[in-house]
Amino acid sequence: MTARILDGNVLAQKLRADFKNRAEALAARGTRPGLAVILVGEDAASQVYVRNKVNACAQAGFHSEKIVYPPDVEPRLVLDRIAELNADPKINGILVQLPLPRHFDSDAVLKAIAPEKDVDGFHAENVGALMQGNPRFIPCTPYGVMKFLADAGIDPKGQEAVVLGRSNIVGKPMAMLLMQASATVTICHSQTRDLLFHTRRADILVAALGRARFVTAEMVKPGAVVIDVGINRLPDGRLCGDVDFGPVSEVASAITPVPGGVGPMTITMLLANTLEAAEREVR
Ligand code: NDP
Repeated sequence: MTARILDGNVLAQKLRADFKNRAEALAARGTRPGLAVILVGEDAASQVYVRNKVNACAQAGFHSEKIVYPPDVEPRLVLDRIAELNADPKINGILVQLPLPRHFDSDAVLKAIAPEKDVDGFHAENVGALMQGNPRFIPCTPYGVMKFLADAGIDPKGQEAVVLGRSNIVGKPMAMLLMQASATVTICHSQTRDLLFHTRRADILVAALGRARFVTAEMVKPGAVVIDVGINRLPDGRLCGDVDFGPVSEVASAITPVPGGVGPMTITMLLANTLEAAEREVR
């Protein structure tokens, strides 16, 4: 079997064209979706992510503000700026690029963002709402995965779904969304005994470990849908996912590539969350 490739760039383009139209409809009513992105420090990957987010806003016709602080900034200054953005009517979404430098209390920073503007969906209030099945904002990466499945006509209902990874930003919300879509969900992590037993049962396998090419063909049930969230840099500088793409695509029925899979969808769903926040404001 050769798997169908789920192309994140194609789906992202389709969704972003719709967002642009919706942003224009809002503009006709005198408002524009607005995103503020806060970057602390000079981490190279974070700089790229922030630039991509700001560019994506511009292409979709959104207002955006990039706020950059040196790595040794006093946390109080960042918290004060967040308070200003919370009260700024031009801003519908506030995002703090993680990770923050060590002298920051990341939880306190995420908590300082008004839940109505928490487009990453990391605020405890929004995590709780998601858990209750009544989400205000869905964290962007798992939101993108659910869009992938819907677009490809893959219904999780009744399926065995296995999520590799239990982080707050990917694994846990991913498992919650799959469960709410009526899959039977197993969450695996670094202490899981007999990973192979679990992965080989999966109809839908989501890999979010941060381990290059960890998921091999023997770990995958023939015909499974394999979603690769991982982004890893190989010694030669190339990017690769958590899935050994070539051999696994001979076994799976559908698979996302890296790059060009979940990555473009993550930024797209950030736009979706910002747009939805703006639309809620004018409703
Ligand atoms: P974390 O490091 O926070 O979490 C990794 C998870 O994988 C942990 O729960 C860990 O278990 C588990 N894990 C690690 N090694 C193993 C193992 N050998 N067997 C089983 N489980 C294991 O990472 P994130 O969730 O933040 O990110 C995961 C990956 O996704 C990374 O590559 C990241 O770059 C990528 N990513 C991609 C995005 C995109 O847009 N495509 C967005 C966000 C992340 P334990 O809890 O026990 O330590």
